[in-house]
Amino acid sequence: MDEDKRREPPLSAGGRIRDAVPARPPLYAIGGAGATAIAANVGIVYLVGAGPGNPELLTIRAANVIARADVIVYDRLVAREIVALGRPGAQRIYVGKARSNHTLPQHEINALLVRLAQDGKHVVRLKGGDPFVFGRGGEEIEALVAHDIPFEVVPGITAATGIAAYAGIPLTHRDCAHAVTFVTGHLKDGTMNLDWPALARPGQTVVIYMGLLGLPILCRELVAHGLPPTTPAAIVQQGTTAQQRVVVATLADLPGRAFDARLAPPTLIIVGEVVKLRDKLGWFHPEPGRAAVRPASLAAD
Ligand code: SAH
Repeated sequence: MDEDKRREPPLSAGGRIRDAVPARPPLYAIGGAGATAIAANVGIVYLVGAGPGNPELLTIRAANVIARADVIVYDRLVAREIVALGRPGAQRIYVGKARSNHTLPQHEINALLVRLAQDGKHVVRLKGGDPFVFGRGGEEIEALVAHDIPFEVVPGITAATGIAAYAGIPLTHRDCAHAVTFVTGHLKDGTMNLDWPALARPGQTVVIYMGLLGLPILCRELVAHGLPPTTPAAIVQQGTTAQQRVVVATLADLPGRAFDARLAPPTLIIVGEVVKLRDKLGWFHPEPGRAAVRPASLAAD
């Protein structure tokens, strides 16, 4: 650890962070396999992770490319403060997605990105969290590659790590967990198709995205496959924001507790012994009624 510290460049490198990666890398350095034969007038798509909700958790790279965007194409969970970082004249297009209420189907989003880039635009495609974690970012990039559109991926803090930090739950505290698994709890035909024996193994932390509706199934199956009903489990609504709410319980009583608390999406579920550490390590306690950090989509809906 000390060695790592010694190697870190000084943070005060005189504004060098901004210059470290050019806003628009040379075309040969970006894009997919076919990116060598790019027409000179084609634009570029930045696939940008907006982080888990709190706008201050955006990366500097993301803020830089947003500030230069001609068009910002954004999803439901992106904080309005982040969309506002674009130039006043930048076009803003809201494309998504509440559960089963897609504003634009995925193939139309893909086609939109291709069209805007072919028009020569500097496009920022803003997605909640990290674009490659349950974000369909890969599919969007496949469409860009198929059309020889240059692109760059700007990672973001994914909900699991951002929310665990703000809930005071170290996901791999070595006294409790040697692994962490991210899964989607999205229901398909009323069921959750997960590898239950693997998820129910002790000594790990399981983080479930999109799991609120399926919460009773999730807890029931984990217990049925061997986890003790007393296993600590938490559900966090609007984590990292001033509206963060955390319910800590056990697998046996989390569904009831979440129901009583009338939690609403977005929520993240964390299962495992690490949840106990929140008692000692919880540090973020937003005051109810504090200024709201609302998803930009609420303005656009
Ligand atoms: N690409 C995103 C995940 C998109 S799926 C990422 O890397 O975070 C959307 C799911 O993420 C939500 O249904 C919820 O489970 C979780 N999520 C995102 N933001 C959240 C927040 N602020 N609080 C709780 N859960 C959140």
